[in-house]
Amino acid sequence: MVRSRGREENTRGAVEAHRNAMIRVTRRVEFSAAHFYHNPSFSAEENRRVFGKCNNPQGHGHNYVLEVTVAGEPDPDTGMVLDLKDLKDLLEKEVMERMDHRHLNYEVPELAGQIPTCENIAAVIWRLLEPRITKGQLDRVRLYESPDLFADCTAEVTVPRAGDLEGLEAGRRAWRDR
Ligand SMILES: [Zn+2]
Repeated sequence: MVRSRGREENTRGAVEAHRNAMIRVTRRVEFSAAHFYHNPSFSAEENRRVFGKCNNPQGHGHNYVLEVTVAGEPDPDTGMVLDLKDLKDLLEKEVMERMDHRHLNYEVPELAGQIPTCENIAAVIWRLLEPRITKGQLDRVRLYESPDLFADCTAEVTVPRAGDLEGLEAGRRAWRDR
């Protein structure tokens, strides 16, 4: 009985010594971009009805706030899940250089054929970042379109692409060649 309890204590002690907490760390960046909502497979009337003033083809701008969360255990040598400077550099390269001061309908190849909603942009950012995070795991991409509206992407999902992709592509080409 006594010996058995002693073993348990040793076991528990050994486990506790190696146990670390799962932590989520978040980095925030801001970028400005323009967009509008339009589905070429809808009639003009349907586009206006579904998307309202967001359908205006002249576009409008937002100051997006992006929060990227990585989950993991702090490295015992550094105390960090990952180096947040590395995460900042990754966001600069993959998000800011692609999207800051861009027209999201026309200038971001990863959004080609998609309506650039907060949801779709968050999903694109997830796909850009997920394979490039080598310490910890991407846990959440939260994108604020305004202070009271945001979308969370927490995993990759497969969805069929909707609408007339060729119509969206033609719009991109026309804008590029204008
Ligand atoms: Zn908008």
